[in-house]
Amino acid sequence: MSVTPELTVEGSRDVYAVGDIAAIDANKAGIAGSQAKIAAANIRSWLAGDAERVSYTPAPPVIILPLGPEGGSGQLPGGEIAGTELISRIKGQDMMTGRYAEMLNIPG
Ligand SMILES: Cc1cc2nc3c(=O)[nH]c(=O)nc-3n(C[C@H](O)[C@H](O)[C@H](O)COP(=O)(O)OP(=O)(O)OC[C@H]3O[C@@H](n4cnc5c(N)ncnc54)[C@H](O)[C@@H]3O)c2cc1C
Repeated sequence: MSVTPELTVEGSRDVYAVGDIAAIDANKAGIAGSQAKIAAANIRSWLAGDAERVSYTPAPPVIILPLGPEGGSGQLPGGEIAGTELISRIKGQDMMTGRYAEMLNIPG
């Protein structure tokens, strides 16, 4: 679905779309989260009667690809290749479940 840089659906002023359904960036969980922050900020501004809106800027390509808890590879936002140690630390140990549990306030 086409969206504006403010993440409203094309042709609508107050319907927002984020994540895979929004045709503005790659389909990735982290990107959906970044877009949600922009949409939430714009909805808050709208509710406050503030005319200011923030725009979403598509992210540079990134991939974090663990191979088991200790292995893997990836590409960082600047194009640098990430080694196994960094990949393991970011994602390999728990596939980011800890990060999402914390975000959703789920006890460990
Ligand atoms: C195999 C696989 C591996 C992936 N690996 C990664 C990865 O390593 N890293 C990464 O960043 N991204 C990864 N992704 C992409 C990531 O999962 C998506 O980009 C992310 O889930 C998008 O979130 P979303 O909320 O936009 O959509 P979704 O997570 O698809 O959520 C949409 C929700 O809406 C529900 N829904 C649909 N229609 C209706 C309806 N009519 N009424 C009510 N509910 C409805 C669906 O059931 C679903 O729960 C992967 C995707 C796949 C398929």
